Amino acid sequence: MELYSGHINKLIEELAALPGIGSKSAQRLAFHLINMPQDKVNRLANTIIDAKANVRYCKECYTLTDREVCPVCSNEKRNHAQIMVVENTRDLTAYEKTGKYEGVYHVLHGAISPMLGIGPGDIRLKELVKRLEADVDEVIIATNSSLEGETTAMYISKLIKPMGVKVTRIASGVPVGGDLEYIDEVTLLRALEGRIEL
Ligand code: ZN
Repeated sequence: MELYSGHINKLIEELAALPGIGSKSAQRLAFHLINMPQDKVNRLANTIIDAKANVRYCKECYTLTDREVCPVCSNEKRNHAQIMVVENTRDLTAYEKTGKYEGVYHVLHGAISPMLGIGPGDIRLKELVKRLEADVDEVIIATNSSLEGETTAMYISKLIKPMGVKVTRIASGVPVGGDLEYIDEVTLLRALEGRIEL
């Protein structure tokens, strides 16, 4: 016997498939949505559809943006010869919030993880190498200090050092296994300032 209606079951299933949402949260959200006024549900659904249709990758740094080139890349005051490599757009946002970094970024959209079957070809590495054809003074590797982040940092360093580009890694101070997006701005800045050449 089905406990709920088929429609609710389907909704719970879809919500539970989202990251960080377990089956209990999915149930709670599903019932919350069903109890919401129709216009609010429509607004939420349309917001999701609009975001999906209009958000794209910046054609230079691959962060998520509404424009062809994101605000950071299109800012001429930024130092385009200094590229900070981050795992995702959330990490970029964390560094942008410090307001102290003047270079540009490169967003990998993931990290190398042999365990999860994510290889160098699955993240935006080719695109990074292509960017190094322009004048680049320094690549700052700011991947997370997790096993995947460190593996990725090492891989990138080996890949691009032979190209004669200075490669640095943000200092510890970022806790081991720590996600950049959860770390406070002071720690982020300290990690950036204390970066070491690889
Ligand atoms: Zn960009």
